Amino acid sequence: MTLLEDLARALAGGSLEIVDLTHTLDPDFPVIVLPPELGQCARFRMEEVSHYDHRGPAWKWHNISMSEHTGTHFDAPSHWVSGRDVANGSVDEIPAGNLMAPAVVIDCSAGSAENDDFELTPDILLEWERAHGSIPAGCWVLMRTDWSHRSGAAYLNMRDDGPHSPGPTPDAVRFLVDERNILGFGTETIGTDAGQGAHYTPPYPAHFYLHGAGKYGLQCLCNLDKLPATGAMLVTPPLKIRNGTGSPLRVLALKET
Ligand code: MN
Repeated sequence: MTLLEDLARALAGGSLEIVDLTHTLDPDFPVIVLPPELGQCARFRMEEVSHYDHRGPAWKWHNISMSEHTGTHFDAPSHWVSGRDVANGSVDEIPAGNLMAPAVVIDCSAGSAENDDFELTPDILLEWERAHGSIPAGCWVLMRTDWSHRSGAAYLNMRDDGPHSPGPTPDAVRFLVDERNILGFGTETIGTDAGQGAHYTPPYPAHFYLHGAGKYGLQCLCNLDKLPATGAMLVTPPLKIRNGTGSPLRVLALKET
């Protein structure tokens, strides 16, 4: 038997399950909101071209528009100024071999339920490693917060001083990049950084350190509560947009049942 025959049999037989980590693209799904003097991220929009009618009697189709960073989406290194000169830094240049990789899940759901500004720290990562082993090089690290259970205004959680949502500290991101050489970092929130991530040094440390090192981001993920701490495999191909800095995508996770 070949590896791929074994894979096909495992999928057909149910010993492997595919978990969809993707929110539905919908005009109501929140997008990041920046201070008004800055450029803004566009929501998803869909217009009907025909609906089995005089505009196209036998077919239905739509034109769609959105930001590269709308909905469940991929961040490429060129998204951030620290990654502007990284080789293969836009979505069309990412090697196909980087689009399937193992994932580990760091469960921060209890802390995030008590503190909207919960921080993922190196201590939490080291505690996780004591239970599950060292975070392997080349893997996705997913920060589970159960934030995907929120919707509407509670998702951005905007207050007078800006959005409040969990995220990693600068030291945690540097640990993952410098000490563990991960492939990328994924979250359930609107960005890979905390809502208050502008106040760290450097500002938005996940974007700064990940993309400066050629690493990737995933955000607005869901169903992380259905994944094991280790052993899942992610499939994450963004759209092949020339010079694109990111892309909505369908994120699939394979796990053993
Ligand atoms: Mn993004």
